Amino acid sequence: MSITISSTFDAGNIEVVNIENHEKIQLKIRKDTNSDFLQWFYFRMQGVKEQSCKLNIINAGDAAYPEGWESYQARASYDREIWFQIPTKYDGKTLSMEFTPEFDSVYIAYFAPFSYEQHLDLVNNAQHSSLCTLESIGETTEGRPIDFLRIGDEDKTKKNLWVIARQHPGETMAEWFMLGLISRLLDEENATSVSLLKKANLYLVPNMNIDGSILGNLRVNAKGVNLNREWATPSIENSPEVFYVKQKMKEIGMDFNLDVHGDEGLPYVFISGIEGIPSFNQKLSELTDSFMQNWKRINPDLQDEFGYPKNKPGEANLMICSKNLGEEFKCLSQTLEMPFKQNDNIPDSIFGWSAERSIKLGESLPSTMLSIVDNL
Ligand SMILES: [Zn+2]
Repeated sequence: MSITISSTFDAGNIEVVNIENHEKIQLKIRKDTNSDFLQWFYFRMQGVKEQSCKLNIINAGDAAYPEGWESYQARASYDREIWFQIPTKYDGKTLSMEFTPEFDSVYIAYFAPFSYEQHLDLVNNAQHSSLCTLESIGETTEGRPIDFLRIGDEDKTKKNLWVIARQHPGETMAEWFMLGLISRLLDEENATSVSLLKKANLYLVPNMNIDGSILGNLRVNAKGVNLNREWATPSIENSPEVFYVKQKMKEIGMDFNLDVHGDEGLPYVFISGIEGIPSFNQKLSELTDSFMQNWKRINPDLQDEFGYPKNKPGEANLMICSKNLGEEFKCLSQTLEMPFKQNDNIPDSIFGWSAERSIKLGESLPSTMLSIVDNL
């Protein structure tokens, strides 16, 4: 049986260079739409049962974050539910995976994908809860609805807490996180969530970059725009995803924001704060600190030893979501990063950082929110 490799499905991304010899398969990652970024890959390989395959991604060195390949293990799945790590090496140019599949058909991806169908199931299932309403607040550049969830009773005296995810579409762990967060918030038998909703309304955008997700991009929308550099000057033409969400934020107000991402380089879960914004003060400093201390006690996957260097006063880039919103609303606003690699803090040799761990981290956010909501 000859080998075939395909990627013409939701979020698929690969170009076949040579598959004549299963031990010397040559592949390339396609660039993001209208952009030079590349890193996300996702493809299906068939005709490979019990054949020792060596797959070489020959343009891995041109990736957006080549350091992302150091100590990285690609993920594989037979059923697209269980994604396990396969032996992967990087020589500074080529990313090589060696693998003898147990079945004829196998999927290989940068990280466990979260498809548009899964997204639609997530938001449509959420609206079944009497606590939640689903609305479209605008269209992407390719005309898809931007799905927005409101959880709570809209009581204006309560705090307004925002969580948005997946501005960078290849960072699928961000939407797995939202799945965990939403299921916990809508669990009416969970005392934490019930107590939180007595004090707050939650506003959620589970996927900020629907088009980019379907296109199999790492970092940009269909126009080639990096949404996380658009927050100072979003436009309907190039970044409607940011334009409409920010408009809604201004309409509703904001006392807390978390922007959920994945980080290609660091093998840790960490938070990037707003230390460098002009309005950073003692209150925001104390909130930043107590939010971190409480969350890492509640879920030790999070840590604060490793992360991005903190901005010096006045040096924050206000085009970035969390910093822009922290300044605009003078509130606690942060970026959460989860790894594509391993969480070296608490490693898992079979799965690495996974969809399941991302879900559990999302489930742990309401407890942390409850611990600080009175101080927001
Ligand atoms: Zn990101």
